[in-house]
Amino acid sequence: MSKIANLLERLEIGRAASTGQGLESRSPIDGQVLGHAPLHDAAEASAAAARAQSAFQAWRRVPAPRRGELVRLLGEELRRIKDDLGLLVTLEAGKIRSEGLGEVQEVIDICDFAVGLSRQLYGLTLASERPEHHMRETWQPLGPVLVISAFNFPVAVWSWNAALALVCGDPAVWKPSEKTPLTALATQAAFERAAARFGAEAPAHLSQVIFGRADVGEALAADARIPLVSATGSTRMGRAVAQTVAARLGRSLLELGGNNAMIVTPSADLELTVRGVAFSAVGTCGQRCTSLRRLIVHESLADNLLDRLIKAYESLPVGDPRQDGVLVGPLIDEGAAQAFDDALAQARSEGGQVLTGGDRAEGVPGGAYVRPAIVRMPGQSDVVMRETFAPILYVLTYRDLDEAIALNNAAPQGLSSCIFTDSAREAETFLSGWGSDCGIANVNLGPSGAEIGGAFGGEKETGGGRESGSDAWKAYMRRQTQTVNFGRGLPLAQGVRFDV
Ligand code: NAD
Repeated sequence: MSKIANLLERLEIGRAASTGQGLESRSPIDGQVLGHAPLHDAAEASAAAARAQSAFQAWRRVPAPRRGELVRLLGEELRRIKDDLGLLVTLEAGKIRSEGLGEVQEVIDICDFAVGLSRQLYGLTLASERPEHHMRETWQPLGPVLVISAFNFPVAVWSWNAALALVCGDPAVWKPSEKTPLTALATQAAFERAAARFGAEAPAHLSQVIFGRADVGEALAADARIPLVSATGSTRMGRAVAQTVAARLGRSLLELGGNNAMIVTPSADLELTVRGVAFSAVGTCGQRCTSLRRLIVHESLADNLLDRLIKAYESLPVGDPRQDGVLVGPLIDEGAAQAFDDALAQARSEGGQVLTGGDRAEGVPGGAYVRPAIVRMPGQSDVVMRETFAPILYVLTYRDLDEAIALNNAAPQGLSSCIFTDSAREAETFLSGWGSDCGIANVNLGPSGAEIGGAFGGEKETGGGRESGSDAWKAYMRRQTQTVNFGRGLPLAQGVRFDV
């Protein structure tokens, strides 16, 4: 048996993935076919919505801390398969091993977070103006949640949504990226093992996966039996989904493209800055929504910092992400490499100067490998304002902090941002109400690599959604204001009289 067949067998998807038909999964590492997942259509999507609704009828009656127990078991299953699932993430998404494992760790972390949350779905008690009345605000289960996910986080995005949805009393329907279906198949198998251990209290179809392309995503998004659609992907996809969901007055939670910047001020620790740039601009081969794309550096340091960065970039090991020491794996496919080439050609035509990289790297035959590029730009021209999902770092200079913050905020996207500085005044200005306009703002660390404890998401074209930590769980619940009269009279609010 081949190594891949063995891996799929250990993940308990060997048979399902070896049908030879349906949605094909190809590794970006070498173009090899890894296996297949089913390919569903709109009718199957509709049947899944119906099954999710019936699972909801039972699941909402299970006490939240018991729902948390199911998520605890899911976390246990994932701990057990962390190494294998991490390897599958590497094979399907092309991440280096450490990032593949890190992604599964993130899933385990959100499970732990959700277990604690299952005992903390707190409401409020409110003072009523009416005698012998009391008021409460409570949070009720909402209904099935559709999770549309992108290729670059083939399991973490699902878990950010599903772990919270499940403790909130909501079934999950997952439409994973068509580029990473086997990771979804393996994760669903882990969920099913957890549900079997949990027992009959977990209704059938609490978690379902619908495999397919944009058309099945569209069909599910249009389905009124799914009150919340959480969609992660490009801004183009988010615009389409938001309009579909709005047309039926459903709720959407959007996690879309980013165009994240770093401001480097004269007091910055340059060694730390170089390390911060390297991880956030070239990690995951520039294919994170939070990847660093714009470096806004004070004009007095630009030459010094660029010298150091070019040196660091020129020693970057690009190649097979399964190998120890490699830091930059492949792009997801040839289309992504073409977008990389096109963006660089446009940058040159807009006055940019490619300082390093920008060409194809050898890598493994059958994969799309590139050398991460640094491009000095005269200003924030069209190409800089657009997210190209590849390792291109545009460098701009500034004179004073207000100008740097204005450049940071000029992008149409508003996901993540950061400043490198040793000045408390500069850091706090960046973090103030007139500082960065993004959902995430960091000091002396890059814009990528968020922890699950904080609310994750961004403003403007990033879509405005928040997931994962803090009070993001409230999006998965229905808020209810309750008033109870425990007296014998019927006093009306605002002193209104209506005597019959
Ligand atoms: P994509 O938009 O091509 O696809 C994402 C998902 O949406 C896939 O499952 C796809 O099948 C589905 N889809 C596409 N069009 C659809 C439609 N009209 N209706 C319903 N579903 C549809 O994105 P991608 O190339 O897989 O991922 C890269 C993008 O995702 C980047 O823009 C990146 O910034 C973004 N992203 C954002 C976050 C975040 O949290 N903000 C996280 C990861 C990725």
